[in-house]
Amino acid sequence: MSKFWSDTVKRLTPYIPGEQPRLANLVKLNTNENPYGPSPKVLAALQAEAGDTLRLYPDPDSVRLRETIAGYFGLETANVFVGNGSDEVLAHVFQGLLKHEQPILFPDISYSFYPVYCGLYDIAFSNVPLNDSFEIDIAQYQQPNGGIIFPNPNAPTGCLLALGEIERLLQANADSVVVIDEAYIDFGGESAAPLVKKYPQLLVVQTLSKARSLAGLRVGYALGHPDLITALTRVKDSFNSYPLDRFAQAGAIAAMEDRDYFEQTRQRVIASREKLGVELGALNFSVLPSGANFIFARHEHRDGAELTAALRERGIIVRHFNTPARIAPYLRITIGTDAQCALLVSALREIL
Ligand SMILES: *Cc1c(COP(=O)(O)O)cnc(C)c1O
Repeated sequence: MSKFWSDTVKRLTPYIPGEQPRLANLVKLNTNENPYGPSPKVLAALQAEAGDTLRLYPDPDSVRLRETIAGYFGLETANVFVGNGSDEVLAHVFQGLLKHEQPILFPDISYSFYPVYCGLYDIAFSNVPLNDSFEIDIAQYQQPNGGIIFPNPNAPTGCLLALGEIERLLQANADSVVVIDEAYIDFGGESAAPLVKKYPQLLVVQTLSKARSLAGLRVGYALGHPDLITALTRVKDSFNSYPLDRFAQAGAIAAMEDRDYFEQTRQRVIASREKLGVELGALNFSVLPSGANFIFARHEHRDGAELTAALRERGIIVRHFNTPARIAPYLRITIGTDAQCALLVSALREIL
């Protein structure tokens, strides 16, 4: 604390990202990055961008990228907003679309950045409990609200909500914005993107950090009615006109265009996830059904914090959350390559 701090800064409880260790050689299964590198076409696009034009500002509106994303989803450019990672997109969403009289709603177990944004922008929220199977129960969201947001699949549980349920929620909630954070949707879920044309209160947020292997490039986007996109653009242009640099725009276009590579890598991750789930089950873990590139699992007898520490001693890092108490027994394990998953399983076998 310092007298120089604003009251806002004094009150903040910042988000703590998963560790990015400096040690090489660690098996890094803690922040849901893709174990496979980005498409070679992305790397070529980045190389082509390294030149004289870097002295010029990038396109502030990222028009070519937005056109590419719109084409991918069968939408218009006016339906697409892009930002410096979906975290930045989400920040603008909280400030521009979720700050109203009524508290916003999100699950009690969910992406832990949401309450942080509420703190930053002074937004009241109310947590809606997941059911006993750690699932989102749409019926619980039928109450007055200033907006609704949750990830699908949810984080850190990996549980997927069927698209029909999301449509039911939209039908019951026409008067406030519903944000579906689809950071992990490409690992087995059905995107709500096609519903954007039908529901003007729906905003779908996606990222290139997970299924497109570009966490280091920082690109995320939102799909929604042009009125919602205009709100986000107004916030962006009051904050940073150039959130995506030339590399980010060029690399993201190439990533969205290379569908074959995307298809191959995501199928590999899905196959490894199914295999790892079975192997953990054989070691007496109970594993929640996952539609994501991670698994949320607890051991019958061993504590989550203890297992995390024991894995770390063996050079494997996974993510553990102390709160809420209901998830403290769980480990969140990112799906690595098959070789990394095998190292994890043999380390667990040793520990147990
Ligand atoms: C990873 C993640 C994000 C953020 O992704 P970036 O685009 O890298 O900022 C957003 N929401 C959820 C639920 C995530 O897991």
